[in-house]
Amino acid sequence: MGAVTEALVRRWLDQAQHVVALTGAGVSAESGVPTFRDAQTGLWARFSPEELATESAFRAHPQRVWDWYVARREALSGVRPNEGHLALARYARRHPGKLTLVTQNVDGLHQRAGQPFTLALHGDIQSERWLDEPRGCCAGGPPMPGRPPRCAVCGNLRRPAVVWFGETLPADILSAAQEASAACDLMLVVGTSGAVYPAAGLVHTARRAGGRVVIVNPQATELDDIADGLLRGGSAQILGRLLDGDPATGRENC
Ligand code: NAD
Repeated sequence: MGAVTEALVRRWLDQAQHVVALTGAGVSAESGVPTFRDAQTGLWARFSPEELATESAFRAHPQRVWDWYVARREALSGVRPNEGHLALARYARRHPGKLTLVTQNVDGLHQRAGQPFTLALHGDIQSERWLDEPRGCCAGGPPMPGRPPRCAVCGNLRRPAVVWFGETLPADILSAAQEASAACDLMLVVGTSGAVYPAAGLVHTARRAGGRVVIVNPQATELDDIADGLLRGGSAQILGRLLDGDPATGRENC
């Protein structure tokens, strides 16, 4: 199916018992956070994310990868959640238990918008952990400062607590997301190219279980073919109109 009207999707939202919103980098684009595609035209254009966001890249070039994450963290300190993040958080608070928010983003903007509960499939860019299984020495004191910081005794490195390409997603979070996807009547797929699995597989799960799928994105995605409806445009405006009700009628979804 192709384009649908926002009014029809609002009706689907009203009828749904359980809604999943699956978000990707695009939901944060209007906050000024580059998507991966944007990143390739920017500061780090010489390296693709696949060359930076992998364990082997980190082991081969720890400083380069660490610095990329430091730059992304610093960029995040100056941005704020946009109307899309805020509308999702308001909707979840108005309808307790109805919306499950699943995000591929590591930027923490849903949480900062006040989303009551977020399944963050790919971790959190502001957190770190040890690269290799920590031994007693690693826990014994603060890591030696550096780029990246390391254990003063064994040299184990600190790494960002995000899921890199080729790594397994946290099993408990993925299985909660799969359960919610299989149980939803409606899935909003917002700002994701649909190219990264297993996250994109959640859309197939919802579809197979009989849930409706609506994609919110200004561009075509790899999931358009299985969607019940496409809403073309930026998510900040579209989510505000969809989830807060129709400003023309003043009607609230309830
Ligand atoms: P992606 O970069 O592959 O795709 C971004 C999508 O967002 C595209 O389909 C694009 O058309 C769409 N988009 C751009 N502007 C938009 C807007 N205003 N409103 C709605 N959609 C818009 O990102 P992805 O699909 O999330 O997958 C890539 C991986 O990138 C994920 O694993 C994610 O963890 C990681 N990532 C995260 C962040 C973040 O945390 N903000 C940023 C970059 C990449």
